Amino acid sequence: MIPFNKPFLVGKETEYIRQAVESGKISGDGIFTKRCHEFFEKRYGFKKALLTTSCTDALEMAAILIDTKPGDEIILPSFTFVSTANAFVLRGAKLVFADCESDTPNIDADQIESLISSKTKAIVVVHYAGIACDMDKILDIAQRHRLYVIEDAAQAVDSFYKGRPLGSLGQLAAFSFHETKNVISGEGGMLVINDEHFVKRAEIIREKGTNRSAFFRGEIDKYGWVDIGSSFLPSDIIAAFLYAQLEHLDEIQNKRKLLWNSYKQGLKHLEVAGKIRLPHIPDFATNNAHMFYIVCRDIKKRTQLIVHLRNNGVHAVFHYLSLHKSPYYKDKHDGKNLFFSDHYTDCLVRLPMYYELSHEQVSNICNHITEFYKNNES
Ligand SMILES: *Cc1c(COP(=O)(O)O)cnc(C)c1O
Repeated sequence: MIPFNKPFLVGKETEYIRQAVESGKISGDGIFTKRCHEFFEKRYGFKKALLTTSCTDALEMAAILIDTKPGDEIILPSFTFVSTANAFVLRGAKLVFADCESDTPNIDADQIESLISSKTKAIVVVHYAGIACDMDKILDIAQRHRLYVIEDAAQAVDSFYKGRPLGSLGQLAAFSFHETKNVISGEGGMLVINDEHFVKRAEIIREKGTNRSAFFRGEIDKYGWVDIGSSFLPSDIIAAFLYAQLEHLDEIQNKRKLLWNSYKQGLKHLEVAGKIRLPHIPDFATNNAHMFYIVCRDIKKRTQLIVHLRNNGVHAVFHYLSLHKSPYYKDKHDGKNLFFSDHYTDCLVRLPMYYELSHEQVSNICNHITEFYKNNES
């Protein structure tokens, strides 16, 4: 069976974990955590990077940092992972869902302005599959209406919008190092702060609402409870694993891009024949090869295709289920139809994509898909 995903070791992961233990400190903000922070701040020019235990946690920190309160409205895509939404619902906010674009699953920027009210506090964008949203439009709307922009950049490591790194465009951004992402640490995430004035409070929120970070830097002589917060910082063991991966980021990215291009080559003919759609990469965006997905014509075809692949030893999966139709939120949604969100919910399939996948396996998967469409002429 070719799995959908497989965690991988690419360098000194186990050695660095041993070093972390031998250093005598494996709680948060040890030497490897600091190295990871420096890596991201240097390479992408992020003002401040703070490792968290997940992207979910980074999003929850973002929701606290912008002072999300009951009654606030947050604009976000319906086609996203639950954490994008949950972080704000936990603070009592009302979600206002936007549809996807027709040609990518990203938020339709042209719709956002009509969703803004006097209660709107932020626009949360998700760079789906690591492909940038239409950021100039979104940043312009946010500036004119004085709204925060938060990037759910969970899938967007090492990807760019008009040459600017994703995660550097909003006031705040959240990344994930979950084992299904490009660089991994099992569970893991990072909050990126691009607006200086959030930095001090972010450190406090991340340290259970205490000013312990300032204490450890010797800036104050005792630390105490100064704000709300939680335990958002990861063990240095996690950071040790992550740092080993970061040392090989270019190698990981190059390999993934080659695999992505193999899929594209192998399936192009089915797109030309009008059987499926392949990912669209707008001119303003780079492709970080986080994901290779195809869009089937309808849910029936998708279900049959996934079964066909499984029968041939290939584990393909689908996601997300539109949040505006979820059991938890459907009664709170205003009832507006989100056509493309439902379209991607029904028709999108993700194909296996991981560092150790081989070109031969990709070629086999493409052949199985080609064979499926040969036997399914409609
Ligand atoms: C993976 C993912 C998350 C959650 O990341 P965790 O690190 O597992 O919390 C959130 N949003 C998107 C778009 C994701 O792909």
